[in-house]
Amino acid sequence: MEYKTAIDIRKAIEAKEITAVAVLEHYLNQIKEKDNEVGAFLEVFEDEARKQAEHIDEMVANGQSLPRMAGVPIAIKDNMLYKGKVASAGSQILEKYVSAYDSTVVKRLKEAGAVIVGRTNMDEFAMGSSTETSAWKVTKNPVDITKVPGGSSGGSAAAVASGMVPVALGSDTGGSIRQPASLCGVVGMKPSYGRVSRFGLIALGSSLDQIGPFATTAKDTALVLEVIEGIDEHDATTVELAETTAPEIVESDFKGMKFGVPKEYFVDEMDSGVKEAIEKAIELIKNNGGEIKEVSLPLTEYALPAYYIIQPAEASSNLGRFDGMRYGSRGLSDNLKESYLMARGTGFGKEVKRRIMVGAYVLSAGYYDAYYKKALQVRQMIARDFERVFNEVDVIISPTSPCTAWGLGDKFDDPIAMYLADIFTVSANIAGIPGISVPCGTANGLPVGLQFLAGSFQDGKIIHAANAFEALTK
Ligand code: GLN
Repeated sequence: MEYKTAIDIRKAIEAKEITAVAVLEHYLNQIKEKDNEVGAFLEVFEDEARKQAEHIDEMVANGQSLPRMAGVPIAIKDNMLYKGKVASAGSQILEKYVSAYDSTVVKRLKEAGAVIVGRTNMDEFAMGSSTETSAWKVTKNPVDITKVPGGSSGGSAAAVASGMVPVALGSDTGGSIRQPASLCGVVGMKPSYGRVSRFGLIALGSSLDQIGPFATTAKDTALVLEVIEGIDEHDATTVELAETTAPEIVESDFKGMKFGVPKEYFVDEMDSGVKEAIEKAIELIKNNGGEIKEVSLPLTEYALPAYYIIQPAEASSNLGRFDGMRYGSRGLSDNLKESYLMARGTGFGKEVKRRIMVGAYVLSAGYYDAYYKKALQVRQMIARDFERVFNEVDVIISPTSPCTAWGLGDKFDDPIAMYLADIFTVSANIAGIPGISVPCGTANGLPVGLQFLAGSFQDGKIIHAANAFEALTK
């Protein structure tokens, strides 16, 4: 099929060059052909997707005006509720949980005429950077199937990277959209905290979580975001937006843009190949009208430790509801305590248990001040550092990940090594600011991602930067 982007697909359907059903059949075939090997999907919603596509074709036949994503196939991560469908968040304990309502993002996708083709694999409860902690299967990187796709939204990233869908949704609590986008060579964006409703998203860290798009172009990212963003009465942290991210208003050059390169982001742990690719990208931006300035974010080294206190704390509290009574399969015992222990003991995987323990510990009476309270203070200071830098520059440039995709199993037994994969992404969640990862060449034959960050609710600026960068590199 010659139409590769969401924008082109919609246009072609509107111009009657192709039907929505034909577009869907193309992608369903791609899934049949490729997903046995890649393992991106947990379930494909063939029948409903076909109905949605047929509905769009009827609208075309009746000469009705088409909504923003009419006929565009999209995949959703397994932690987003879609009424009547299982949402397991990659976990055993929610194996049989059927969504009772639509999450706001799914509701908005439906209203925009998108065709929801399936739910994608993820690390259990979105904890992880490799999509290996899923209770169901391991997703592989389509660029090299001996490698991880990144995580936790690895299924969505792999689905887009292998051409099984043009766009997909992921969730990003500490990097779970941007990092897999980087490792799979696609575009992935975490919006500003409060831009996209979390209603119907199975929570990991509620003060950090944001839903965002995967795509192959910056403009497709803008389109999906435009559809899902905006105030929602079901999520009190969402706000009325001053401007949308419509793809039509995305600019395509660097003229007048000031970029900051934080010196703390070029750490020793970074692969030399990644460093080279990032330096080349910075050079390219500079030679094409972007102003480059060195900036300092001195608290960068504390971002990861603060994240791994705040996030497990929130996770341990959010996961309290999965006890076999309110949610999750019930433990088979007459004794109440034992049945809790059974439900949680067998229902949760190793990484989830680790986080629950860490979270409960840092929130406990004796350690609250020393860990949790301290981490919140650090969080404030990191946010202030970003504010200061964004008074000087429009956009910050950094690597998305310190390394390219690693071998399946390589970091599975080493949680600290896995946590370090998010060293450049967690700060954005801590500060609530938007971040996007765009492909910027390869190192050892594997994709490298370049990250753009901007001030809170300046999401348009990073899409603009990503689009201008894409124009130079495509
Ligand atoms: N990899 C990070 C973690 O395990 C980030 C996860 C995420 O963004 N959902 O917590």
